[in-house]
Amino acid sequence: LTGRMMDFPLTLTHFLERARTYFGRSEIVSRQPDKSLHRYTYADFYRRTCKLANALTRLGVKPGDRVASLSWNHHRHLELYFAVPAMGAVIHTLNLRLHPNDLAYIARHAEDRVIVVDRSLLPLLEKFIAAVPSVQHVIVIPDDGPASEGRLDYEKLLEPEKDSFAFPELDERSAAMLCYTSGTTGNPKGVLYTHRSCVLHALALTMTDTFGIGEPDAILPVVPMFHAAAWGMPHAAVFTGAKLVFPGPHLDPLSLLDLMAGERVTLAAGVPTIWLGILALLDQEPKRWDLKSVRTMAIGGSAAPPAMIDGFLHRHGLIVTHAWGMTELNPVGTIARPRRHHEHLPQPERLAIRATQGFALPLVEVRHVGDSGQVLPWDGATMGELEVRGPWVASSYYGGEGPDRFTADGWFKTGDVVTLDADGYVRITDRSKDVIKSGGEWISSVDLENALMAHPAVLEAAVFAAKDPKWDERPLAAVVFKPDQSATKEELAAHLEKRFVKWWLPDDYVFIPQIPRTSTGKFLKTKLREDYGDYLLK
Ligand code: ADP
Repeated sequence: LTGRMMDFPLTLTHFLERARTYFGRSEIVSRQPDKSLHRYTYADFYRRTCKLANALTRLGVKPGDRVASLSWNHHRHLELYFAVPAMGAVIHTLNLRLHPNDLAYIARHAEDRVIVVDRSLLPLLEKFIAAVPSVQHVIVIPDDGPASEGRLDYEKLLEPEKDSFAFPELDERSAAMLCYTSGTTGNPKGVLYTHRSCVLHALALTMTDTFGIGEPDAILPVVPMFHAAAWGMPHAAVFTGAKLVFPGPHLDPLSLLDLMAGERVTLAAGVPTIWLGILALLDQEPKRWDLKSVRTMAIGGSAAPPAMIDGFLHRHGLIVTHAWGMTELNPVGTIARPRRHHEHLPQPERLAIRATQGFALPLVEVRHVGDSGQVLPWDGATMGELEVRGPWVASSYYGGEGPDRFTADGWFKTGDVVTLDADGYVRITDRSKDVIKSGGEWISSVDLENALMAHPAVLEAAVFAAKDPKWDERPLAAVVFKPDQSATKEELAAHLEKRFVKWWLPDDYVFIPQIPRTSTGKFLKTKLREDYGDYLLK
């Protein structure tokens, strides 16, 4: 028997119209390249989004066409985030930290028809645009000065257009957004979000049990809009009418703390490397910023070290919400919140729960499987590959690459090695490509680096596999000290010995000025393996 309720389409167009109808007064603040702040309201945002849709229509953009952005986080990027999908086209966010060759590959693969680029990023665009024959128009956002003669200028393009647009009724399964994985293994792969997946994911972010995003919030997405839809924060903000605060190109700790305090930010989101820098600065000048408005910082993308979570809480009264996600998921999949039955636990155990990757968001299902595909027990100890399914999980890659990442029974293989405990909390012990296999046994690099980062002299640490003639691989640690601090190898080993069995301890330590990072700010272990993989053979 079929139910009798409307098949109302779940689309971002509804978010946009809702923002216009109810939240016209909410503010959107963007830091510009010259550090000044640009401010306007959702009412302005709506009008300009309509103008943009009119302008793109005039340029010949049709439903399904890919319109790429090469931009920092700012209000015009938000206009693209909504105008393009609401017209029925697809916003494709290009990652400005990638090598021009990768950008060329990705833009060609996506067959981008239009590219909208920040003027400050034009030199990067010039390096690959000639290799992308599908592009018919380049539109320059005049972020650090006017676009040059002969170029389409975003503002001039919008100016004559009408500030209303008859957005079409869309199928909720139509594509809204195209995001590429950063391709740390093999070529980047495209993930094509639907309107429906964006809507359901944003809805999930508003739940009290997740990030509880609502109209009273002021959200600072430090996570780039060119990476996994800035974790859906822009969608959730427009949906609820929350204030948005964009950092533009200024991602240093000082600029971010100024913005958090000055704009009364309630929720900020970014990867651990950003927050490690912020914590170090706060420790130096604990009284400089009034951060009482901040209710939580969402941290994910790689493992948030427990010492950092603890440091924010105990030294600065700031709560970290640790979450796990990936591009293939729109992107949030799990979130670490203690549950009611954890309330009575002593502080260290509550911290340990906050430091896990958490349990699945509603509508997301997880399991972990062993080498021969057997589903493993949730005992908190058995390690296996995490698999997920749900309405905001990719069902295949755009272009059909990597079919082996999707199981015959409808799950996506994440490539993360995890344990699951009886309460469903996921603990990532490694990405499968970073696993250290010593004498046939797995050693968790994440556990070791978390412990190293809890040492008072250590700012950052990454543990990775180095070749070993006897054991195949052995752990080697790369360590960055805090300014004016240091420790000997023996002291670091003694610090780890308290927590780990002997054969887990790194065979050696290299002291370096900075851990190399990926395009999205994560520790780049492939580079460490390249540079130091033979270190133990010498
Ligand atoms: P990439 O890192 O390949 O550029 P993604 O941003 O999609 O692309 O990365 C997803 C991966 O990041 C996950 O598979 C996982 O390995 C890692 N990750 C994300 N969140 C966390 C977290 N909270 N803790 C540990 N690892 C995480």
